[in-house]
Amino acid sequence: MFGRKRILVTGGAGFLGSHLCEALLRQQHEVLCVDNFFTGTRDNIRHLLDNPSFELLRHDVTFPLYVEVDEIYNLACPASPIHYQFDPVQTTKTSVHGAINVLGLAKRVKATLMQASTSEVYGDPQQHPQKEDYWGHVNPLGTRACYDEGKRCAETLCFDYHRQHKLSIKVARIFNTYGPHMHPNDGRVVSNFIVQALRNEPITIYGDGSQTRSFCYVDDTVDAFIRLMDTDPAFTGPVNIGNPEEQTVRELAETIIELTGSRSTLTYKALPSDDPTRRCPDIELAKSALDWTPRITLSEGLGKTIAYFDTLLSQRDKL
Ligand code: NAD
Ligand code: UDP
Ligand code: UDP
Repeated sequence: MFGRKRILVTGGAGFLGSHLCEALLRQQHEVLCVDNFFTGTRDNIRHLLDNPSFELLRHDVTFPLYVEVDEIYNLACPASPIHYQFDPVQTTKTSVHGAINVLGLAKRVKATLMQASTSEVYGDPQQHPQKEDYWGHVNPLGTRACYDEGKRCAETLCFDYHRQHKLSIKVARIFNTYGPHMHPNDGRVVSNFIVQALRNEPITIYGDGSQTRSFCYVDDTVDAFIRLMDTDPAFTGPVNIGNPEEQTVRELAETIIELTGSRSTLTYKALPSDDPTRRCPDIELAKSALDWTPRITLSEGLGKTIAYFDTLLSQRDKL
């Protein structure tokens, strides 16, 4: 079929990767999902396994990979602080060695590569909202550095392969995204608060809850990835992908309590080190270059995510 591509999604069994695989299959492409199942699960992609255009390969991207594809989305990397801090050396290896391997692969087969970078490259930002030309404020020695510096180095590698080997690259700086297929125990704020609210357990606010984040629903994020991949070869990014509606963590907790009708109370715990105080994307570049803007409101997206966790928890309770 005209326009049908062979597309590699590393980290394809994870939260974002599984939605991306699904969206690419809907567009009739062939999808090769590569994952070592560190944080991803077969459950996230079970509904795709019978699709003849879908192939699953268990593989760790820190090792070389020889396959033939037209496009690569490099998403492999744990994204939640508790997971990426579990084995920080492996996190840096995944970001850096993983990027070298997929860039080497892209170079050999002349594929376009989209790198899943992160708002963490801005660290605890001193500019607000964050624009792509801001160089960031990252502690290179702290507990988040394995992720932040790994992702910064992966961006460097993308731009060096682009300049040195004329590789077609696209760098997406993803801000907090939420939705179905988040791991219930991965410690991220949206999944933690929803699971606690559904169980009527205390909601754990780290610090005083005045720190801010901006939450983008997964369908909007995945739409932006595909639009980014389809941009003109001259467009490399980096481009911020996120929802600019900023909230405090405490406001998020209150919204989730209201939407779930929960009896949960708020409980306050210590703020993890280097936890960014404010985070909000400037998305003017995404609007103009990708003709994209997030469409799903927080209450709509939270509603779908709550429904997902509600089903998941009741299935588990039956086991
Ligand atoms: P996730 O943990 O659900 O998915 C990551 C996937 O990568 C998992 O399936 C995991 O098993 C796999 N993986 C990890 N190490 C691997 C390795 N060495 N080899 C092969 N597979 C490996 O996280 P996610 O939220 O889906 O994040 C996907 C990507 O998007 C990550 O690169 C992350 O840094 C980036 N990102 C996500 C967010 C967000 O809010 N979700 C924000 C910024 C950036
Ligand atoms: N690589 C890979 N698959 C390929 C081509 C390369 O995994 O199809 C890996 C290879 O192992 C190498 C890395 O990508 O370590 C970088 O490749 P590149 O060609 O840029 O560097 P070189 O092989 O010259 O070190
Ligand atoms: N957070 C919280 N309670 C939780 C989990 C997280 O208050 O149970 C806070 C966390 O300290 C941070 C924000 O929520 O300020 C977002 O945390 P998450 O781990 O989801 O993402 P990141 O810090 O990487 O943006």
